Amino acid sequence: SGYQRVLEENRKLYNQVQDLKGNIRVYCRVRPFLPGQPNRSSSVDHIEEGNISIIAPLKYSREGKKSFTFNKVFGPSATQEEVFSDTQPLIRSVLDGYNVCIFAYGQTGSGKTYTMSGPRELTEEGQGVNYRALGDLFLLSEQRKDTICYDISVQMLEIYNEQVKDLLVSDGVNKRLEIRNSSQNGINVPEANLVPVSTTSDVINLMNLGQKNRSVGATAMNDRSSRSHSCLTVHVQGRDLTSGSILRGCMHLVDLAGSERVDKSEVTGDRLKEAQHINKSLSALGDVIYSLAQKSSHVPYRNSKLTQLLQDSLGGQAKTLMFVHISPEPEALGETISTLKFAERVSTIELGAARVNK
Ligand code: ADP
Repeated sequence: SGYQRVLEENRKLYNQVQDLKGNIRVYCRVRPFLPGQPNRSSSVDHIEEGNISIIAPLKYSREGKKSFTFNKVFGPSATQEEVFSDTQPLIRSVLDGYNVCIFAYGQTGSGKTYTMSGPRELTEEGQGVNYRALGDLFLLSEQRKDTICYDISVQMLEIYNEQVKDLLVSDGVNKRLEIRNSSQNGINVPEANLVPVSTTSDVINLMNLGQKNRSVGATAMNDRSSRSHSCLTVHVQGRDLTSGSILRGCMHLVDLAGSERVDKSEVTGDRLKEAQHINKSLSALGDVIYSLAQKSSHVPYRNSKLTQLLQDSLGGQAKTLMFVHISPEPEALGETISTLKFAERVSTIELGAARVNK
């Protein structure tokens, strides 16, 4: 019956949430070839559940193939809806007072922004994790409104050259902001606009404003967005209508700067400085997640602005999901392999016999 189906659904969701607890998950997503590109063979050999095998020249592997294991691998035909459905339990846990971080990692052009926001010409089915996550929070908080009253608000920050800026300014002036730590609010950026949202169209308007501010100073040849991290932070506060007790949850949706290594012999000046800042913060993030996965006693949060900002939401009871993105083009192979190696390092998946045999 319908009722039983609902119960069954609830139990499934509950189990998924339990499963995610205190965990670091890594999902890999392979971008399709883009329309208009010449037909070529993909550097992905095959995908099977959590496994991805890459065609690798001898330089990288003696067998000519290299395989990696993650919690999930999405192939080039995976839809935004499919990707989101495996993310949903994590997002719902924010309403229960958990902190969550979702990252998009990968070289420029591998599909990070597509996963988090969507294609440039946004359609409803094209909507990425950011829109869907907020839509889901609205829906669920509405369903719970007889027992808990939720307030949902967002901030949108950019970290560029180790400086934190507000992307939700209305006057286009993004001054440099400080990350603070208060006993009441934990890690926060009090000077950044915090905007209440209750509908998907509120979210679309804010995302558009953030996008506009992010591209200030960029030109067609010089797309700054690939060299900065952007972070949509969703603050949730719920008041239990019977007891009056308050719960707080927070979710960071982070579109990271492109992970490509820049040839230091070829860049100078501003570009070199940017590259060094990106390197530093991505490796700081990798180190933090790695230490958490290893359950080590010291977690080096202080090594970058990014990890400082997210400190409250990485580790402890918080849940982390990293989407690593790869491009199918053989030309991208070097970056693809270094992306997969980064991902493998931060993943807590046990490397069992299955992988050794491949
Ligand atoms: P990044 O943010 O990593 O630089 P983008 O998200 O901008 O990369 O993706 C590069 C291009 O590929 C964009 O034109 C984007 O729309 C397209 N693209 C990325 N992922 C997909 C996908 N899964 N399906 C269809 N097009 C995609």
